[in-house]
Amino acid sequence: MSAVSRITLRELAEIDVGRLARVGPKKREALASVGVDTVLDLLMTYPRRWVDRTNEAHIEDLAIGVEALVLVTVRSVSKRTGRNRRTIVDVAVGDGSGRMHVVFFNQPWRDRQLTEGLQVALFGKPDVYRGGLQMTNPIVDLIGDRTGRIVPIYPQSDKAQLSTWEIAGWVENAIDRARPRGIGDPVPPAVLARHELIGRQPALFGIHAPESIAEQRTSRRRLAFDELLRVQVALVRQKRALEQAGRGVEYEDRGAGLVAQFYARLPYPLTDAQQRTIDEIAADLDRTFPMHRLLQGDVGSGKTVVAVSALLRAVDGGHQGALMVPTEVLAEQHATSIRALLDGLTVGTADNLFGERPLRLELLTNRVTGADRAAILSGLASGEVDLVVGTHALIQQGVEFASLGLAVVDEQHRFGVEQRAALRSKAGESVPDLLVMTATPIPRTAAMTVYGDLDVSVLDELPPGRTPIVTHWANGPLEESGVWDDVRAEVAAGRQAFVVCPLIDESEKLQVASAEETFERLASGELSGLRLGLLHGRVVPAERERAMGAFRTGELDVLVATTVIEVGVDVPNATVMVILDADRFGIAQLHQLRGRVGRGVHTSTCWLVTSQVLEENPRLTALVDSTDGFQLAEVDLDLRGEGTLMDTAQKGRNDLRLASLRRDRALVELARVVAIDLVGDDPEMSEHAALRDEVDLLVAEREEYLTRS
Ligand code: ADP
Ligand code: MG
Repeated sequence: MSAVSRITLRELAEIDVGRLARVGPKKREALASVGVDTVLDLLMTYPRRWVDRTNEAHIEDLAIGVEALVLVTVRSVSKRTGRNRRTIVDVAVGDGSGRMHVVFFNQPWRDRQLTEGLQVALFGKPDVYRGGLQMTNPIVDLIGDRTGRIVPIYPQSDKAQLSTWEIAGWVENAIDRARPRGIGDPVPPAVLARHELIGRQPALFGIHAPESIAEQRTSRRRLAFDELLRVQVALVRQKRALEQAGRGVEYEDRGAGLVAQFYARLPYPLTDAQQRTIDEIAADLDRTFPMHRLLQGDVGSGKTVVAVSALLRAVDGGHQGALMVPTEVLAEQHATSIRALLDGLTVGTADNLFGERPLRLELLTNRVTGADRAAILSGLASGEVDLVVGTHALIQQGVEFASLGLAVVDEQHRFGVEQRAALRSKAGESVPDLLVMTATPIPRTAAMTVYGDLDVSVLDELPPGRTPIVTHWANGPLEESGVWDDVRAEVAAGRQAFVVCPLIDESEKLQVASAEETFERLASGELSGLRLGLLHGRVVPAERERAMGAFRTGELDVLVATTVIEVGVDVPNATVMVILDADRFGIAQLHQLRGRVGRGVHTSTCWLVTSQVLEENPRLTALVDSTDGFQLAEVDLDLRGEGTLMDTAQKGRNDLRLASLRRDRALVELARVVAIDLVGDDPEMSEHAALRDEVDLLVAEREEYLTRS
């Protein structure tokens, strides 16, 4: 390298885009309006598409009904008003091999955009109209007078009045001016060579002005890798920093053998996956730094047992455990089922003649008030309460722990920075261990990104003896009547059913109303004569307990409920799950709801009911086709895109412009491996300062991703 070092991204980020040739004040303003202020912003404005001139179709090659790209010259343009006062712009185009007609409906501005003699790329599906070829509302790219075999097409903005050829010109200017010094590469050459990645400079130049589509691809691969690497480096650094920042809780052995007592009482052996996961957690707890682990497992894979075993290990070691869930209803349900699991367990104690006392688990939600609340709070502060189940409020409001060892979060909402800070503040001199459980699996690559600062355990095995759930889609009212016949038949055979009511917006009030209405309708109509119960978020706890209890013991045949039954309800005799207006739920939630049945020896059925006949619904079809939560998570990501997964509201330089968690799964994994390698155990990255600087420059705080279902 010469005396002058190569250009870094930070330097590019410090050069105003107005300093490029042909960027006057007006264009400078236009660029600012699309978020481009610096030369780096400009260079990271990647083409949307590349038109390969050597490969485009000619008009004479076009096949009817087959999408194609043609490069044509505009011959004439006319505008008229059609029926319904729609504006129609007619354009005649040609390319030497033939002529074609193009029509635009409701795009009046096209007659200003397309002028005679202009070269444009059209992408669309040709049809025959009045004996000639015609494209209707094709995608139009103005390519101006750019030459070269491959023409980059930039995101143009009519509003800001920026055209793709202007952007291409500025980019070219920036590249020319960067060439003498060269663009630096923060990734060591050996890493690039090992993973067949090209250099930063050829990639950056090659994505804007490739000589071939192959070059465009290798350029994109490198730059997408860089984006993912920056994200992973940020996460791995954060992980290392967390590990080094606080001392973990130390567990001694109080010798009560709580975990062993617990296993001895379990009515079934652990699955191999549960055992493996429990061992992973136990190893974490033994380390000197605090645990940050994510437990992924499909519905019904037995996460509760894993969590309880970890919590008991903490109590055994002389500390307390907390289980946090998203809602109060869930907290109540979890407390009940965990209490049942822990019945009869005892903890060693010094202040009792017999040297032991019963393990004490308490439920703490906002519904627990008065003297009860005071007693629990004082028990937590004194250490007499060993385990507590509640909502996130547990760690947020003035709850004092004598010594919180482990917090388990059964998560639906993101357990983010703030919560972690709150958790740390519960610590004495050491930081509590944290186990986050996902309610439903998320795809591996997404987990790596969204939860990249956590270690991950996967429960990839269901307990034995499950009978697979058969799922049907009852599409419309006619098919719905068959659903109620099925419910009646199952009840006649001694089984039970759930009916989940439509999800109406996010309003609890409306949901309650809809549940009540459905209950009335079914009780006096389709399911008259059966014993029906009703459960929703506004039913008072005592009444709710009664309904759940009655359902559990078989005094009720059918439980009509809102999504409050989503998690934690476990009634093996229930074999039918009916979900009304199923098209209003997401894949993850449907899968979660469906998991409430299929827990016994009898074959279970899940009915996804839509109140109207739908042409198609890929989500419902996916549910019918698969019962594998991990596979469904992949489908979900494909259908929804990562927009819902990642916080797109992030302003400014978004880190993932080229890379996609969906399409670039292999690259995500590669980036993770490389990041772990480059960070090593030095979060400061003193040996890779350039890379670290890029991460600081470009990666926003990655904590607040949305992973809601
Ligand atoms: P989830 O992972 O969905 O939270 P749960 O922890 O609620 O799953 O467990 C689902 C059901 O499986 C419960 O009825 C539980 O008692 C049962 N279960 C858990 N582990 C085993 C096992 N190893 N063998 C048999 N049944 C098990
Ligand atoms: Mg669970």
